[in-house]
Amino acid sequence: MITKVKGTQDFLDLTLFNFLLAEAKNHFALYNFIEIATPILEHTELFKRSLGLETDVVSKEMYTLADDEEESICLRPEVTASCVRAFVNNGIQQTPWKIFTWGPMFRHERPQKGRFRQFHQIDMEIIGSQSIYQDVHFLKMLDRFFAETLKLDTYGLLINFLGCREDRAAYKKKLYAYLEKQATAVCATCIIRKEKNIMRVFDCKSPDCQQVYKQAPRIADSLCPQCQLEWQQLRDNLEHLSISYSYTPTLVRGLDYYDKTVFEFVSSELGAQNAFCGGGRYNSLVKEVGGKEDEASLGTAIGIERILLLLERIKDKLTLPMLKPLYVVLPLSAEQHPLALLLADELQAREMCTDVLLDEASLKSMMRKVNKMGAKYALIVGPDEQKEQKVTVKNMMTGAEEKIAQRDLAQYLVR
Ligand SMILES: [Zn+2]
Ligand SMILES: [Zn+2]
Repeated sequence: MITKVKGTQDFLDLTLFNFLLAEAKNHFALYNFIEIATPILEHTELFKRSLGLETDVVSKEMYTLADDEEESICLRPEVTASCVRAFVNNGIQQTPWKIFTWGPMFRHERPQKGRFRQFHQIDMEIIGSQSIYQDVHFLKMLDRFFAETLKLDTYGLLINFLGCREDRAAYKKKLYAYLEKQATAVCATCIIRKEKNIMRVFDCKSPDCQQVYKQAPRIADSLCPQCQLEWQQLRDNLEHLSISYSYTPTLVRGLDYYDKTVFEFVSSELGAQNAFCGGGRYNSLVKEVGGKEDEASLGTAIGIERILLLLERIKDKLTLPMLKPLYVVLPLSAEQHPLALLLADELQAREMCTDVLLDEASLKSMMRKVNKMGAKYALIVGPDEQKEQKVTVKNMMTGAEEKIAQRDLAQYLVR
């Protein structure tokens, strides 16, 4: 038997998945985001440049392959860089460019609860907007989506402010000096990160390390006057729009490209990897990917698998699309198969959901099957019905049977 690839999954019931996508498309359209799609294959170089060589994603989690010219291409590990590339490649002039996209992403990491090697995200980006009020508007859009559209009730919003590039350069020195004094108190991974990508030490899961980082200097305490002002405006206006949040100084997000605002929506129901949506502002990515000038931007990715875990628990509260009633035609022998197809075709032409049983031997086994299928009516055609141009209609709820003229069937069923 050939099994599915490790870290992938088959979706055999897409009701919740499609509900989430439909609601997302509807909600984000209200905020004037347009949907785009970019390729799953990209040049490996794109992610090396945008994510940074020292990130886990680039150093060990990418699925890369060589294309014809022996240039390395890869399955996209995320889609923000692709959106920025699309912005630059297509010469988009009108900013802010507000877009959303969704689809599969690929990372070769250890599979765990709610985390897959092929996973799916809904992604939103605003490219070319400086205003900190844009961040507030963006967070309000997401908060409203989670709370009101998806009716999630057990989640929180974590935010932090990483300042500008200059602020971070100064801060990294302060943090380095602090960690030098703590060298014996932190784990081996943190010691390596201190040298390679120092702000990622905060992602360490070790309680001992976290204890040390509680006392560490905070980036939001070493901001330049402009960043200080924006950080204040951000918090004031989140409160103004009644968005609850908790300031989390250790939230730095895994990727190199973030500036200023970073955030995560988290749920305690998801275990250790508790974020289901994360993002922030990035102000230098456009130039990194080949644009002429930097464009202040922000974006977020929503983890579809993780949201589905949350929705699964509350699906009774959701208004999922109603299934159409099902009608099943039961030809009692092969002689009635052509008639059964004709009757089904008439109903299907009227957009009535109809199936035909063509492989069952006896009426008994057919009725058992119709029951399992959850049909509203069984439509029985045997030799008698065929002769009389009628159909025996059985109501599967009440068990009541009635013989109806074939030409009146559709009308009878929807009466
Ligand atoms: Zn600054
Ligand atoms: Zn550590």
